[in-house]
Amino acid sequence: MSLPVGKIIIVSGPSGVGKGTLLKRVFAESGLPLVLSVSATTRKSRPGEIDGVHYRFLEATDFENRRKNGEFLECFEVFATGVWYGTLKSDVENALSEGKWVVLEIDVQGALAVKEVYPDALTVFIKPKSVEVLKERLLGRGTESEAAMNRRLETALKELEHAGQFQFVVINDDLETAVKELTEVLA
Ligand code: 5GP
Repeated sequence: MSLPVGKIIIVSGPSGVGKGTLLKRVFAESGLPLVLSVSATTRKSRPGEIDGVHYRFLEATDFENRRKNGEFLECFEVFATGVWYGTLKSDVENALSEGKWVVLEIDVQGALAVKEVYPDALTVFIKPKSVEVLKERLLGRGTESEAAMNRRLETALKELEHAGQFQFVVINDDLETAVKELTEVLA
């Protein structure tokens, strides 16, 4: 019997576009051997976020040491606010060796960096219906200060310009349609 073949799936898109909700549905319903890569971050946890499940919440010095040790497949200071996010090499390598399809929910810079190391990675960009809808969602979430919100929005607008560099684009307007489309892209 041959071993199952692992693969890397990169899902990017602006903050607030609903990547998390969409992926949760695809994970639950697709029947595909998907595992989510749990990113490390120096951001503070939000209410309800669990260490090791949503993120590995690291102290800045711990993150920095791991970065210097070359433990990250990719890592970036997202939103230029001094907050770092990164994918640990070990997580991805372990998942691949088990034949899993490892999903990286990361920003555009991260996506391009991973593609350099794993050119066969599948890349998907999740787009909002419109910039106005994205603004409403980001504001409605109310998890960030106004300054942080504005930086997220600025980053989002820049990220949207990179959609063309991804192999697939899924528009997250109607959730049911987006779940179906993303599942078809991955399967
Ligand atoms: P949030 O703070 O809202 O959880 O995430 C903010 C952004 O950071 C998201 O748009 C997400 O794509 C990005 N992000 C999360 N984890 C990683 C990671 O490991 N690497 C990179 N490059 N970006 C990440």
